[in-house]
Amino acid sequence: MFITRFAPSPSGRLHLGHAYSAAIGHARARESGGKFRLRIEDLDQTRCKPEFVDGIFEDLRWLGLDWEEPVLVQSERTAAYADALEQLKSEGLAYPCFCTRADIAQSLTAPHGDAATSYPGTCRGLADDPERRAATPHSWRLDSAKALGMTGLPSWREADGAEFTASGRDIGDAILARKDAPASYHLSCVVDDAASGVTMVVRGADLRASTPVQRLLQILLDLPEPVYLHHQIVAHEEGRRLAKRDLAPTLAAMRDGGIDGPTLAVQLLTGLLPSGFRLQEA
Ligand code: GLU
Repeated sequence: MFITRFAPSPSGRLHLGHAYSAAIGHARARESGGKFRLRIEDLDQTRCKPEFVDGIFEDLRWLGLDWEEPVLVQSERTAAYADALEQLKSEGLAYPCFCTRADIAQSLTAPHGDAATSYPGTCRGLADDPERRAATPHSWRLDSAKALGMTGLPSWREADGAEFTASGRDIGDAILARKDAPASYHLSCVVDDAASGVTMVVRGADLRASTPVQRLLQILLDLPEPVYLHHQIVAHEEGRRLAKRDLAPTLAAMRDGGIDGPTLAVQLLTGLLPSGFRLQEA
């Protein structure tokens, strides 16, 4: 019995890639006699809008994908994230960081450094500096070296049975919370998956790179381990990924064009995509 979840951000209307992910999550839950949950990832208040939350409900209904109530709304979960952050701080696993995005970009020596995993560690070890203690940090970061020293390299299992172990390079001093956000994607994701009893995380292969640090956070916070299903992603025929900003055809437009939602959901499950689209690895 699997509890799955669909966790869109209400920063635009849903597109075909969302429908594909939701259809798989819904099917995995239903065929196992489990539950399909919905989570609104609205912590980025500058990009998220209430009308897009309504759009998510409308589009899922149109696809015929029913979900379990209550819907978890991340902007209402600040206290849970603060508790988790506090726990990491109290174990010395989170440190305040005063770097801005620009500072980090400048200090990265690797020409194509990935800011998510290659924070140069400028603020690590400065937590006791009196001047720093008085200032408001820009963010809180995970002390990944210390954490990995406690846990060893995290591993995870995919729904097809494949086992993976992270390498040290997959995990950096990830941001846990920001001055303007009570939790980062990684922290809110693990706290909420656990709170919703999620046992199978269904999401696109483009998010596979998030799994090592999320597994590490689960171990540190003593949260249960879900199984992962990282599915192929929907792309335009010529290989371009669907993106909200790239005017990907929305589900709302497909509905207006006369497409039948439940038929589309069933076709997606068999890997049959509308013409002009294809599935590909991330
Ligand atoms: N909110 C994320 C997205 O829209 C999903 C994150 C997840 O499934 O872990 O891509």
